[in-house]
Amino acid sequence: MALDTTPAPKSKGVIFSGMRPTGLLHLGNYMGALQNWVELQNEYSCIYCAVDIHALTTVETPQDTADIQPNIEDMVLDWLAAGIDPEKSIVFVQSRVPEVMSLHTLLSMVTPLGWLMRVPTFKEKVRQMNESEESVNYGLVGYPVLQTADIILYKADTVPVGQDQVPHIELSREIVRRFNNRYGDTFPEPQAKLTEAPLIVGLDGQNKMSKSLDNHLELAASPEETARRVATAFTDPQRLRRNDPGRPEVCNVYSLHKLFSTPQEVATVYEECTTAQRGCVDCKRHLADNINSFLEPMRERRREIQGRPGYVREVLEDGAKRARAIAQETMQEVFQKMGL
Ligand code: SF4
Repeated sequence: MALDTTPAPKSKGVIFSGMRPTGLLHLGNYMGALQNWVELQNEYSCIYCAVDIHALTTVETPQDTADIQPNIEDMVLDWLAAGIDPEKSIVFVQSRVPEVMSLHTLLSMVTPLGWLMRVPTFKEKVRQMNESEESVNYGLVGYPVLQTADIILYKADTVPVGQDQVPHIELSREIVRRFNNRYGDTFPEPQAKLTEAPLIVGLDGQNKMSKSLDNHLELAASPEETARRVATAFTDPQRLRRNDPGRPEVCNVYSLHKLFSTPQEVATVYEECTTAQRGCVDCKRHLADNINSFLEPMRERRREIQGRPGYVREVLEDGAKRARAIAQETMQEVFQKMGL
């Protein structure tokens, strides 16, 4: 594979985005982020990173650590199958560019602790972990500093985020402003690019689609497995018999139809459900067929990639070289400006 040190220049700027290596991705991951990543490649120079160091902030067991490497390969295979093109974008693993850890340390010299302690997601995480703010590891507090280092190491100026991540980008901008004020103009202030992704509710009909809740549909699942799982989806709980009219507005199968079926099909589902002309079993089969059609091009690409053993590693090695070339240039400038 040809070694090019920068992504192809695009008019709109440089995007950085990362994903924790959680292994095989599901439809919620695709609709929430990956689909957008694929589209952004046409307008921006994109840098996509498997953020394995971030994953360490919540590692609890030896198994969590053992899972990191296989999870990276599974996840990146999903990225490539979904349409991330390593010829257009830099695709790499965070820890393979160790300069990010140096920059994290140096940025921590300009970041007041109070800024970090106020981040809403930090407080939420502490609450979820049932810990006190004093007992969580520093990595969790410093997470937004590492995230800032991830972005600005490559002089990225745009970060696609959901609404909940906006405070993190605002904090990154403040850190950059402080750095630039103290040491001279070095980094662009990253801008949040809000992505309006639909919230994908899982098969339980109640929670966001998530692997940990086992309410998900994997991108890599076979058509049969997909159909089997869709058949377990919760529907309108008041529809007990086939002859009862259903309420599509409270049924998650219907909301999934809205994403994967044509507008005409959605109108038919509504009509036939509310008049009891359609049973839930058939409705789910119909949905599974449409999800399978949607996933088929990804399955096809996955088969192609799997036919090239070692390809994912090759992509990641090439991506790390390209990312590292940019990172080393940035760090030379940073060291010089900081008097190191
Ligand atoms: S027919 Fe379809 S939309 Fe209506 S309740 Fe059953 S699964 Fe939901």
